Amino acid sequence: MIHPWNARLFRQLTADPEHMPHALLLHGPAGVGKLDLAIAMARWALCQRPTEDGACGVCDACNWFDQGNHPDFRRVEPVEAEAGEDDAAPTKKAPKKGGKLIKVDAIREVTHFLELTSHRGGWRVALIQPAEFMNPAAANALLKTLEEPPARVLLLLVSHQPGRLPPTVISRCRKVAVPLPEREIALGWLRLAGLAEPASPLAEAGGAPLAALAYAEPERAARREAFLDLLARPRQFDACQAAQTFQPVMAEAWGWLTRWVHDLLAQRLAGRTHYFPTRTEAIARIAAASGLAELLAFQRELAQAGRWLRHPLNAQLLLESWLIRYSEIAGAKA
Ligand SMILES: [Zn+2]
Repeated sequence: MIHPWNARLFRQLTADPEHMPHALLLHGPAGVGKLDLAIAMARWALCQRPTEDGACGVCDACNWFDQGNHPDFRRVEPVEAEAGEDDAAPTKKAPKKGGKLIKVDAIREVTHFLELTSHRGGWRVALIQPAEFMNPAAANALLKTLEEPPARVLLLLVSHQPGRLPPTVISRCRKVAVPLPEREIALGWLRLAGLAEPASPLAEAGGAPLAALAYAEPERAARREAFLDLLARPRQFDACQAAQTFQPVMAEAWGWLTRWVHDLLAQRLAGRTHYFPTRTEAIARIAAASGLAELLAFQRELAQAGRWLRHPLNAQLLLESWLIRYSEIAGAKA
């Protein structure tokens, strides 16, 4: 699917099929449809009757693609790393032990596939996503194909953290920035998708429509409101109990707390609320009564924690320590 805000970019990328770059790195914020754009490009490249708006959707190639068995297409995604694979692990700022990885075997399989002649005499297409999950050996294995690409090969790398890819890989791809859509376009699309009040989830998602759609899912929205209710009354909640309640959704809780602290700082410094506009009153009140240096230090602490968030040793203790720290900082001067 090509989302409306990516339609022009799609036409630009596909305007000159005879001079397609052999490798594209689609990068940009999470939730703007990079993966959908990459899939649309793969489908278009393999389609027997492509148009400027994309694949035809009815030819044999499109049917095979849609059923997930086009012989000239491969998709590589991370798998769970096994214990002891740390040393094999990743490029800069590696996902830690127990995280997911794209391993060298998967990349070797795909580069071998790209060397073959296509079944249909057309393109061979490979999609690697998220590309930053390749470990160094996997990235190395890809380099040869990037340096000497076989004819009629399209390699699509998708990443919202391209800074974690080795420079040697980045420099051999054509970088394509997939930007945030304009707010009105995103709001209109979310309304069409069935959201009656899309402004609040879109703000929480920092303007990324697909993330906003996921954030608006009712159970998640209810959890978020309950968590924000706690943060809005920093001196009144029981951190231990709150940590127990929210530790099963540790990553969400970290995301809300991080955005909330960002909003406290944005209020303090610029009088703006970025992520939680419906909570502006509480955010302004707490921001005015909190120390700037303490908020900045807490923001740094949360950002660092985000790197190993997937596998904290003790989620509940960690969350409790953040909430205690928050209640010490927030409104301290009130
Ligand atoms: Zn087709």
